[in-house]
Amino acid sequence: MLQLITILNHCHHFRGFVYAHARFGPDNKSIEIAVRPRRGSAAVCSRCHRPAPGYDQLAERRFEFIPLWGFLVFLLYSMRRVDCRRCGAVVVEEVPWGDGKHQSTKAYMLFLARWARRLSWKETAEVFRTSWEKVFDAVEHVVTWGLEHRTLGPIDAIGVDEIQYARGHKYLTLVYQIDLDVTRLLWVGKERTVESFREFFTVIGDELASKIAFVCSDMWQPYLKVIREKCSEALHILDRFHIVAKMNKALDDVRAEESRRMRREGQEPVLKKSRWLLLKREQNLTGDQRFRLRDLLRYNLKSVRAYLLKEAFQQLWDYTAPVWAGKFLDEWCRQVMRSRIEPMKKIARSLRQHRELILNYFRAQKLLSSGIVEGLNNKAKVTMRKSYGFRTFRALELALYHSLGKLPEPESTHDFF
Ligand SMILES: [Zn+2]
Repeated sequence: MLQLITILNHCHHFRGFVYAHARFGPDNKSIEIAVRPRRGSAAVCSRCHRPAPGYDQLAERRFEFIPLWGFLVFLLYSMRRVDCRRCGAVVVEEVPWGDGKHQSTKAYMLFLARWARRLSWKETAEVFRTSWEKVFDAVEHVVTWGLEHRTLGPIDAIGVDEIQYARGHKYLTLVYQIDLDVTRLLWVGKERTVESFREFFTVIGDELASKIAFVCSDMWQPYLKVIREKCSEALHILDRFHIVAKMNKALDDVRAEESRRMRREGQEPVLKKSRWLLLKREQNLTGDQRFRLRDLLRYNLKSVRAYLLKEAFQQLWDYTAPVWAGKFLDEWCRQVMRSRIEPMKKIARSLRQHRELILNYFRAQKLLSSGIVEGLNNKAKVTMRKSYGFRTFRALELALYHSLGKLPEPESTHDFF
């Protein structure tokens, strides 16, 4: 077992400490490696991070290390306590491989956290024969370090997005940085209220907030209010992705309502299984779906008329000049208002009301990576699906920062891949 010590000295060596010996644990399923202070080296106070005179020694603790060849690996160490004059107290020493709070070593936490970005937390725990809580702790450790050590500014453009994370109107507010060269999640907030979004601006401070040039959002009133209040100088853009999503929602409502009515009145159920035919863009349909869509479009139905209005609207995004986009938008809204399809009329009223913010999309088009909020939103949803089963706010918050925050990672003595 001498070789194990040699390897550890090579990749996980810390000044002031030595690996004494390695042996199998009592169950023969783990390897235990005893760590001792190097003779003559002083313990470091965990409060002021300076060497201090020794006081006593606590009982031996086990720090879980990265498993090896199917064996769990533990470092065994008896923490010393110091009588720190600077802090005026007896304090537990600081050890470089771990901290006071966690049973796992820092190297193992970083190792688990990296895997937890690729697998779900549950899978990570299963693969490495550890508990879900230890994976949670590992991610929390790495994310906390990352948030403390990240550089926030400068921020040129942000996108704010709401995302539902549980039944019953449980929403999160996500704020992304969407600069051309940096896209990352900046902030996760509980709820989607004025207060929660304001918190983001408290975190970044007035200095950074005043330099934001573009803000992308949907039409959610609390967001609009906070943006007016905190980013009055920025160009505020209603995002294409959010408008399309809203349009699809309206179309879906029309279809569901009409389908119910037809069933009630005993009519031929032509709308059955039509949901994706109508919601997907035509070019994304399979040959068979395309055939069924053509068939469906022959009927004089509200759903069909709403579908055609939605499809016609797509042309808006082909414009480059705000002026022509504006003319198109006005004409589209006029048509819709004559349509007698209430959910679509509601959209048209809302689009009219936010006309200028929509046209800002065309004013800023060349300066923003468009579609970026949509991409981030999809990634956030995938992250939430992976974390299925533990939808507490804290776990989701950590998972989202971990996968989308592009946070710096704690330094490591070695790349334990
Ligand atoms: Zn101290």
